[in-house]
Amino acid sequence: MDAAIAFILFVAMGKVALNMMERIELEKARQLIKERVIFTGAETVGLPEAHGRVLAENVYSPMDQPPFNRSPLDGYALQAGDTEGAALHAPVSLEVIDTIYAGGYSRKKVAGGSAIRLMTGSPIPDGADCIIRQEDTRADAAGRQVKILKQLRSWDNYCFKGENFKKGDIVLLKDNLLKAAEIGVLAGLGIDAVPVYKRPTAAVISTGDELVEPGVELAPGQVYNSNYYTIAYRLRECGVDVAPNMSLGDDHRVIEKTITDMIDEVDFIITTGGVSVGEKDLMMEIMENLGAEIIFWRINIKPGSPVLFSVLAGKPVISLSGNPLAASVTFDLLLYPFLREITCNKSLELKTMQAILQNDFHKKSPIRRALRGQLARDENGKAVVKIIDMEQSPGNLRSVLNSNCYIDIEKGCPGLKRGERVNIITII
Ligand code: AMP
Ligand code: MG
Repeated sequence: MDAAIAFILFVAMGKVALNMMERIELEKARQLIKERVIFTGAETVGLPEAHGRVLAENVYSPMDQPPFNRSPLDGYALQAGDTEGAALHAPVSLEVIDTIYAGGYSRKKVAGGSAIRLMTGSPIPDGADCIIRQEDTRADAAGRQVKILKQLRSWDNYCFKGENFKKGDIVLLKDNLLKAAEIGVLAGLGIDAVPVYKRPTAAVISTGDELVEPGVELAPGQVYNSNYYTIAYRLRECGVDVAPNMSLGDDHRVIEKTITDMIDEVDFIITTGGVSVGEKDLMMEIMENLGAEIIFWRINIKPGSPVLFSVLAGKPVISLSGNPLAASVTFDLLLYPFLREITCNKSLELKTMQAILQNDFHKKSPIRRALRGQLARDENGKAVVKIIDMEQSPGNLRSVLNSNCYIDIEKGCPGLKRGERVNIITII
């Protein structure tokens, strides 16, 4: 009996301890999550798969590019010395000894008094030291003679072998994000596969008995599950592979089982819903039941204050509020540094700056507040920011549309006036 009472007391004290668990600052919370990144390793993939991936090693050029001295235009290869004094009213005549098309070459050598006609991209024949464009010449009908109408200097219009890249030159640095331009440059060098970081994988689990999927008619009290979509697609944009949609209701056994199954399959889990203090706010209990290490619960910012961060089997489990705006704000402000580390995508960055507010904001901010805003430049190039929707209640996702930044309002702020300088966090 004594043991039973002691146990009940122990559990009750545990709950009190949790409720007293200190809210922590956003910056501290970011750091605590970032510290739990597990490096996912690298792999070599073909170019089509490399698009959108991050290079894991420097890439060096395997060849000279262009691989031969190359004509940048349609015209004639010749010796600059032959063009001395050439002008529209004083043409110089040269013998055309061959023609080269792109993909072909000539065994002939250009000597004084001769020229070889060539097309853009053809190899420049030996003996020639410049290319004259066709528009500055006049050929005879048979194409055997060409009149040169302009004086050239040596190496005019001459693209040298290896002038883009010499064999062994560095082409791309490790950690570069491979966008269309980078993929094109690699292809131009004949590179068909590159080492990239593995894409981390995540499961996004939505909790809430009230949730239904888009496409189904709503019964009274139901809402559409938007969090999975916001979070899964944002993760994909950041370079994370996401497991199929899992919307689990509020049954703690189902949630526990799914988290237990998924934790071995993915690098991290994001859950939404059930982290506040309501009756069905199960996530804390679930993570404790699973034996997870509870790192923090609740951060000092609005919206999105209820966040639970725990670590299960060495992997981060980030439990966000179910409120769609809150989930989206905490995703951005809390998880970017973690995502930057785990994907190695250095372009994921939260930047801070200041801007001039363009509208009044009347609400008090008893705790720090992040407001969705629209950052732009005014006609003088000054950074200006507009609050998109004055309400921005945590459940209303509307303000994410047309927003490109957060206005970071400090705790205790009585309200803001148009024209005030405010702190901005931009998300890239
Ligand atoms: P909770 O964090 O579970 O207390 O949920 C807070 C609010 O967010 C409730 O109004 C829920 O109906 C709503 N909500 C929870 N999960 C989602 C979701 N996946 N998509 C859209 N709304 C949600
Ligand atoms: Mg819920």
